[in-house]
Amino acid sequence: MTQITPQPGIMDIALYQGGIAHLDGVSNVVKLSSNENPFGPSPAAMEAVRRSAHELHRYPNTDHGPLRQAIADVHGLDAGRIICGVGSDEIIHFLCQCYAGPGDEVVHSVHGFGMYRISALASGATPIEVPESERVTDVDAFLAGCSERTKLVFVANPNNPTGTMIGMAEIERLAAGIPPQAILVLDGAYAEYVDGYDGGAKLTEARDNVVMTRTFSKIYGLGGLRVGWGYGPQAIIDVLNRIRGPFNLSGTAMVAAEAAVRDQAYADKCRAENARMRAWLSEALAEHGVASDTSTANFVLARFGSVEEAEACDLYLQSQGLIVRRVGSYKLPNALRITVGDESSCRRVAHAVGQFKAGQR
Ligand code: PMP
Repeated sequence: MTQITPQPGIMDIALYQGGIAHLDGVSNVVKLSSNENPFGPSPAAMEAVRRSAHELHRYPNTDHGPLRQAIADVHGLDAGRIICGVGSDEIIHFLCQCYAGPGDEVVHSVHGFGMYRISALASGATPIEVPESERVTDVDAFLAGCSERTKLVFVANPNNPTGTMIGMAEIERLAAGIPPQAILVLDGAYAEYVDGYDGGAKLTEARDNVVMTRTFSKIYGLGGLRVGWGYGPQAIIDVLNRIRGPFNLSGTAMVAAEAAVRDQAYADKCRAENARMRAWLSEALAEHGVASDTSTANFVLARFGSVEEAEACDLYLQSQGLIVRRVGSYKLPNALRITVGDESSCRRVAHAVGQFKAGQR
């Protein structure tokens, strides 16, 4: 029998393990494992979805014009330099497919988002994992990880799952320091949670080697509709558009995202409530002896004394109907990532961690 083999690199990709535990028989389940907005999308987005229902038989607009214009208006950007994708995952994928192939290297942190490695391997490139502390993103480590083969450098700011954030001066140092053949991809999936941070938009405007990626899955509460976008130099955006499927976004997703981004008052409310409950949750966990103090995003990284303790706590939380995220695949096996939920979810999870810790004494 002939052996039908996939392209090199593909078998190095483990099947995605991000599926959440299904807690049969446990009532009142709260999911705090995927960094979703506990309040859901803006009512304006819900209304846009309802209004779009009569057009389900139509293929959607291929150039995403109205959505790109809305993003551009809100962020003060050039709509021509925006590309939309099926989540920011797809933009990451486009970047790897277009710019990194066999023999090329894609640099990311040991605690970096899993899609960087998957997309690099899928395009035949070699992922290079640079060391990173749990507490600070180390620009020097990224620079040291670069070589004449580096084509892409992925940095999430804030980073998932550590929640760490680096300042603009450090990002600029990174952009200026990477090799001339490389693109710095600033992943701003959580940028909206940081007061006054533009996700690197201004830097992207100023340089020809930086691409910013953003998402509607987090603060805009539209993870289920899968909308992300990228912003970069016109030449790079034009390249990415060549491999984009003409109908990658559904019409429903586009109108929802457009309404969501235009409702900044709702995003402001979500940002403020997230900051309030994140501080509360971190403090409550600290009172139980669990540190989780670095986050600038919509989750906290709760650190335990050992891998066994983190796993036991996860199982205890599940028994209480609370689903959080193990982050072993991010090389943080002694930690649990907990999404900042609404007030009652935060109280429940803090209380349960307290009970777990008390039971250990
Ligand atoms: N980047 C980071 C850092 C993320 O955490 C996520 C989602 N978990 C994404 C990108 C992708 O998000 P989406 O595809 O939903 O836009």
